[in-house]
Amino acid sequence: MAAAAEALTDVPGPMVPAPWTVRSKRRDTADTWTLELEPAAGGAISFEPGQFTMLSAFGTGEVPISISGDPGSASGPLVHTVRAVGLATQAICDADVGDRLSVRGPFGRPWPTAELAGRDVLVVAGGIGLAPLRPAILSLLAGRERHGRLALLYGGREPEQLLYPSELQGWPELGIDVAVTVDSAGPEWLGHVGVVTRLVARAEIDPARTSALLCGPEVMMRFTVAALTRAGVAAQDIHVSMERNMQCGIGHCGHCQLGPSLVCRDGPVYRWSELEPWLAIREL
Ligand SMILES: Cc1cc2nc3c(=O)[nH]c(=O)nc-3n(C[C@H](O)[C@H](O)[C@H](O)COP(=O)(O)OP(=O)(O)OC[C@H]3O[C@@H](n4cnc5c(N)ncnc54)[C@H](O)[C@@H]3O)c2cc1C
Repeated sequence: MAAAAEALTDVPGPMVPAPWTVRSKRRDTADTWTLELEPAAGGAISFEPGQFTMLSAFGTGEVPISISGDPGSASGPLVHTVRAVGLATQAICDADVGDRLSVRGPFGRPWPTAELAGRDVLVVAGGIGLAPLRPAILSLLAGRERHGRLALLYGGREPEQLLYPSELQGWPELGIDVAVTVDSAGPEWLGHVGVVTRLVARAEIDPARTSALLCGPEVMMRFTVAALTRAGVAAQDIHVSMERNMQCGIGHCGHCQLGPSLVCRDGPVYRWSELEPWLAIREL
């Protein structure tokens, strides 16, 4: 009996952070870094595209950060792409190789990758929103033969703020069309200029066959949904990843409540058909 009780207390619950060591660090943009982590105590975690962890540089608060690595490489490092916007994210971005961070998770409802078999998939990302979508793109490309047309529309503020530029160049060879646009650029930029929703209007969408995955600022997602709806894509086939202020990550504290739902537990990925009634309420 005592042994059983001891064994139970040995299992760390989802609120217990584990120490992970920064194995490598890459600067993506002026304020964004990609960190590869390995568990200080060995092992690995598996995750599904779209899930997040609660990440912390000890003593500065925990924040939800999506996993941006390859879900097909279960024994590989845990990868996060983090934009320094405040105390916690700045401290994470300041961590050096060899430093320890704390990790809880993975948590949250992932992108519905199984449901995308046989479908055309349109991925629409804004800014740092490409990070939560990168595992979904890698998963789609790993099973390329299972899908129809794949396309990525990506919008950033300026060319220097685009994430993963070498992958954006290389992905078309692996079977996904990539169109990139920026809000503003100098004369050396030869690509599109304008908001990402303009690219939606140009995309050749077969609405009955298309599922869309969206992540970016909420206003960008609202306009993108409107453009997709005009193109005839059904609300149940549009999937969006929502951001809300989170603390526990497991549906206990209620900080991330959105209508009747908790984003950490029931999201962050939702069908637009679920969200639409709640987001129609001002400032919900
Ligand atoms: C499910 C999920 C996945 C996320 N994935 C990533 C990711 O992959 N990479 C990344 O860089 N960031 C991601 N974020 C956002 C990240 O959690 C926030 O930037 C972070 O919590 C800010 O904490 P801070 O202490 O650094 O800044 P704070 O001082 O708390 O805030 C700085 C600014 O950011 C705003 N902010 C704070 N928290 C959030 C939030 N949750 N959503 C939107 N704005 C917020 C504040 O209003 C303020 O303007 C994700 C958020 C969620 C909910």
